[in-house]
Amino acid sequence: MTSLLLHNSNVVTMAGDGLEADAVAIRDGAIVAVGSAGEAASALGSDTARVDCERGVLLPAFIDAHCHLLSYAASLLAVDCSAARSIAEIQDAIRQRARRTPAGSWIRAFGYEETQLVEARHPTATDLDDATSDHPVRLVHNSGHVRVLNSLALRLTGIDGRTEEPPGGVIERDLETGEPNGVLIGMERLVDQAVPDLAYEELSDAVREASRRFLSVGITAIQDATHTNGLSEWTLFQRLMGDGSLTLDVIMMEGSEHFGELPRSALDGQLVRGPVKVMLHELENAGPDADEVVSMARVASAAQAAGRQMAIHAIGEQAVLRAVEALEAALRKSPRDDHRHRIEHCSVLPDGMAARIAELGVAVVSQPAFIRKRGDRYLQLLADTQLERLYAFRALSEAGVLLAAGSDAPVSPPDPLASAAAAVDRATASGAAIGSSQAVDTLEALRWWTWGAAHAAFLEATRGSLRPGAVADLVLLPKGTMSASPEELRTYAPMCVWRRGEQVVPDSR
Ligand SMILES: [Zn+2]
Repeated sequence: MTSLLLHNSNVVTMAGDGLEADAVAIRDGAIVAVGSAGEAASALGSDTARVDCERGVLLPAFIDAHCHLLSYAASLLAVDCSAARSIAEIQDAIRQRARRTPAGSWIRAFGYEETQLVEARHPTATDLDDATSDHPVRLVHNSGHVRVLNSLALRLTGIDGRTEEPPGGVIERDLETGEPNGVLIGMERLVDQAVPDLAYEELSDAVREASRRFLSVGITAIQDATHTNGLSEWTLFQRLMGDGSLTLDVIMMEGSEHFGELPRSALDGQLVRGPVKVMLHELENAGPDADEVVSMARVASAAQAAGRQMAIHAIGEQAVLRAVEALEAALRKSPRDDHRHRIEHCSVLPDGMAARIAELGVAVVSQPAFIRKRGDRYLQLLADTQLERLYAFRALSEAGVLLAAGSDAPVSPPDPLASAAAAVDRATASGAAIGSSQAVDTLEALRWWTWGAAHAAFLEATRGSLRPGAVADLVLLPKGTMSASPEELRTYAPMCVWRRGEQVVPDSR
């Protein structure tokens, strides 16, 4: 029996109980007491290890409520173009990788943002051919929803002038010849199936590194929101957990096309089935694809009838509206309390929608870090009236909507403190502020990563708050974190992280 006393800390339970405590008692991987040092110590025996937290802030460990583990792991091996400011820089990075990659092997690159390029456009197949024509190249946009292929990759993927757009997809074409120019929007499925999977050894190493990065920022559990998740991903995650590469707890959403495939849990609850995920592809400043709206409504009522939770990916105003309507209709048909259906992202909140979402009991799972990362892009793309409703966290919270936060990794790196900083100062990368009236404080922003994220996945009995019976996953942050400025917050990192009562950061092994 191992027991541990964390004392001399500033405990924030996140339970909303207003409890002032400075110690947490842990036994066998679970919390047994929260209170004063004396109270906590009396719950444990004499053979207790003690950690002096030096007045640091002790919180429940973070839960990333929306991310994509395998893509994030793969991104750690790919050519990172997120810092590129010109197409020439992207070409250079790909050229360098090509030099140490056997001809014919795929080069995977990601992270560019065309609004940050001096050319202010997507690179094309011709641009990528200049970097290499001996390797097929797939370059993924920062949003994850645009792919650029070079000519060889287009050929291997079988996309040419005669290829028709799939629902929600766009093939950009040369106006005269009708030939694809390499830019493919909303076509991840068609493109990615042509790119070979990583070998298991490569993947498991990358997942090991991904796990390490999540833990280092205080995240011990993740909700994988990949809309293609099914039994094969479930089996793969089990294997990765079994061999110790994946050292996080995972709630795996079930892609709607794999509805009913996943068991409820595996490996003593390290892997748990989450909501049914539905994707609504959207084109910029346009609504979602009409066919997808119809099939979403069908999935929503099937999931509702089966007693399952739903998670709908909806970013723009139109998509959010359609998602709310679909959930409303499904709930009307078979009413159920405490369903906690979720809207993922909800980037632009339709006018007057906060109250309606609250009334339906729908949760919003969003990514505050996007304010900083994408803010300048939104300033260019959205009308002023929409900017006021962009990531409208305060409006949602005041209406009583359950909020949870995630990184959407690999779209943005997992970093709850940076996410909180963005929710507090609402500053874009260039320093402009967006929707300052929607700002919240650090405590609330971190509540979305703990209490909110746990509730959004029905995990609140054991996670997201510090109280007896909860799993002993905790994070120790520097003293004064809750009152630090956003600038300071961005430089902070956890001093210690425990998973099931065991210290995982700093890594003691
Ligand atoms: Zn996502």
